[in-house]
Amino acid sequence: MIEQRQFYINGQWVDPATPNDFHVINPSTEEPVAVITLGSQADTDAAVAAAKAALPAWMATPPAERIALIEQLLTAYRARQEDLAQATSLEMGAPIDMARGQQVPSGACHLENFVATAREFRFDRPLGDHAPNDRLIYEAVGVAALITPWNWPQNQITLKVGAAAIAGCTMVLKPSEQSPLNAMIFAELMDEAGFPPGVFNLVNGDGIGVGTQLSGHPDVDMVSFTGSTRAGTAISKNAANTLKKVHLELGGKGANLIFADADAKAVNRGVLHMMENTGQSCNAPSRMMVQAEIYDQAVETAARVADTVKVCSAHETGSHIGPVVNQTQWTKIQNLIQTGIDEGARLVAGGVGRPDGFDKGFYIKPTVFADVTNDMTIARQEIFGPVLSIIKFETEEEAVEIANDTPYGLTNYVQTQDTDRANRLARQLRSGMVEMNGTSRAAGAPFGGIKQSGNGREGGVCGLEDFLEIKSVSGWTPE
Ligand code: NAD
Repeated sequence: MIEQRQFYINGQWVDPATPNDFHVINPSTEEPVAVITLGSQADTDAAVAAAKAALPAWMATPPAERIALIEQLLTAYRARQEDLAQATSLEMGAPIDMARGQQVPSGACHLENFVATAREFRFDRPLGDHAPNDRLIYEAVGVAALITPWNWPQNQITLKVGAAAIAGCTMVLKPSEQSPLNAMIFAELMDEAGFPPGVFNLVNGDGIGVGTQLSGHPDVDMVSFTGSTRAGTAISKNAANTLKKVHLELGGKGANLIFADADAKAVNRGVLHMMENTGQSCNAPSRMMVQAEIYDQAVETAARVADTVKVCSAHETGSHIGPVVNQTQWTKIQNLIQTGIDEGARLVAGGVGRPDGFDKGFYIKPTVFADVTNDMTIARQEIFGPVLSIIKFETEEEAVEIANDTPYGLTNYVQTQDTDRANRLARQLRSGMVEMNGTSRAAGAPFGGIKQSGNGREGGVCGLEDFLEIKSVSGWTPE
């Protein structure tokens, strides 16, 4: 059993104020694999105090020095990729090859991009030629609380820590209690990179405890949160008392609009994208919307593709999917699959219960429902598991109406070879991101949503700007 009861505060690993053991469960086996401590108010206060004390000097550090430390971090990160992958796979169930090939490299990619972005960013600039004595100074928001989920842990941590550090913010990271081990390795890397004490702090804890203490803390200037819409609402309310800046990356219910003229691989691609990370991605294309002319064929293809998706332990190498993260998610997903059946959707692949050959572990059958209508529970709620809903549409107008009829607005997808239509839909779909014809977004493209999917953007220049305030100065003497 791994024992990791300490927190990283003010440049040191320290014991918690009060012991409060929490077991980390391996979702592949349901066995406890590690014990950590859930922090208390005293631990949160100590971490925030360290971040507050470190802020003036860190804000005043020239950006070039902050960037150089991120480069050091990147070197340290690359050297420990295997440890990060093993921890991620163990605690949240990403298959080891997927953890090595996607989960962990996503972190390096974000850090690299922040370095490139920051080198070009003008932290200090004139307002414009018309106003030579006006200056805009981009300054750190202050002490940032970073609250992250378990589903893409290094992706989320690097998006927040990289941007906050370059902006000159000091920070307290509270990773998900479901996946603390990779975050603790990351804290070791911050230490190794040589960040001054107090710039980065880590306290483990749950949402009710450390999460709530951070969002309400008078000395925290900003909360950057990724996770459920439920927790995002609670954080916003709690942060309102001290009027903190709140950045939210929340859930999604992405529509994938597949028109009759889509390329031949569109359905296949959509199913595999849905199943990736065992369906535990906020931007999953969970509502596959198919035009009537190709609907029957698409349903058949989707069922066949889902049946080929292998489910296996996260410890096995290969391109299978793993378990979902924990018992709560497993039960929630089972109930939603049953609800889909009860509400009259047509089950064409998967279903309730574990896949054949498993009597333990949080494994789910890759599941596809056809004949889903947009008012059904499975079309409205984020399932966060390998469950795809297929909805039929006739016209482009109807497709837009159905796609936009959701409380969420994170990512929508369009598959058509009509380029005019694709561009038109990119404008009409109500979401923070639109991906067309399987083209992934480039490094540094802003990630984030609208409506109940959140606010703000992460990654690249927009991600950096979210941790900055603009100070407007007049009477500036040009240097
Ligand atoms: P969660 O909201 O339960 O937990 C996320 C983090 O918030 C954890 O660190 C948790 O301890 C903390 N937390 C929970 N309640 C809190 C509270 N009241 N105050 C402060 N902190 C609190 O979500 P989860 O189960 O870890 O992750 C799954 C959800 O996250 C899904 O809904 C998914 O869509 C969403 N998500 C969104 C994005 C995105 O970028 N939009 C990315 C990943 C996950």
